Amino acid sequence: MKYVRFLHKGREFYGLLEGNAVLPFAGGLIGKRRPMGVRLPLAEVTLLAPVRPSKIIAVALNYMDHLPTGAGFVSSAGGGERGREAPSVPELFLKAPSAVVGPEEAIVVPAGAGRVEAEGELVAVIGRRARGVSPQDALGCVLGYTCGNDVSAREWQRGDIQWWRAKSSDTFAPVGPCIVDELDPAKLKLQTRVNGEVKQRGNTRLLIHDVAQIISFASRVMTLEPGDLIFTGTPGTTPTLSPGDVVEVEIEGIGVLRNAVQGGD
Ligand code: MG
Repeated sequence: MKYVRFLHKGREFYGLLEGNAVLPFAGGLIGKRRPMGVRLPLAEVTLLAPVRPSKIIAVALNYMDHLPTGAGFVSSAGGGERGREAPSVPELFLKAPSAVVGPEEAIVVPAGAGRVEAEGELVAVIGRRARGVSPQDALGCVLGYTCGNDVSAREWQRGDIQWWRAKSSDTFAPVGPCIVDELDPAKLKLQTRVNGEVKQRGNTRLLIHDVAQIISFASRVMTLEPGDLIFTGTPGTTPTLSPGDVVEVEIEGIGVLRNAVQGGD
């Protein structure tokens, strides 16, 4: 099933996406869902980010083809990534929930941010509280998967000790358009386009640490709550974003997350 959050006539709902229609339900995304018996044309609603996370965990350096060519990436310890070997454990960092935007919302580049890049990523949405779960049990804690863009300001990433603004400026975490369950997260094609031109191509079978390993590792130290997001890493070389650009992240079986880029104050 495909889950969405949307606005209709000024009210916010969760619902199921079926073709060109949405079917709202009561009870919330995580709780006991009760269909409202209504079918709304998709064209009459505004899709929102499909979930409001309490936190966002992201993985750096999680595709081999991103290690030697990931322009501008630096580790949180301040070292460059070029020539690095694959991390032996998932290299995690946090993004702020306030950075989340939904489909068709603008990515706003803050003044002084310098070079900003897109990172198309598969995002896992936690559906059940996870604390100390094994890799074998980890996928049972996932509600489903969505597309994400781990927008990154490279000069801040390189120059600051912490990545707070490089990775968590407002609008730097676009997610959507829907959450899809019943997907195998280990074999999904991923593509990032800027103004229609393909800039990143990948497949989640090439993840260095897979979704189950990431969730298990994180949950040993940090309780994962329903709605939390796990950005799983980006493949290849990441494209620069400039005001006026339109960036799309497409993942097989999920859909297209599209956002325009604007300059900010
Ligand atoms: Mg990333």
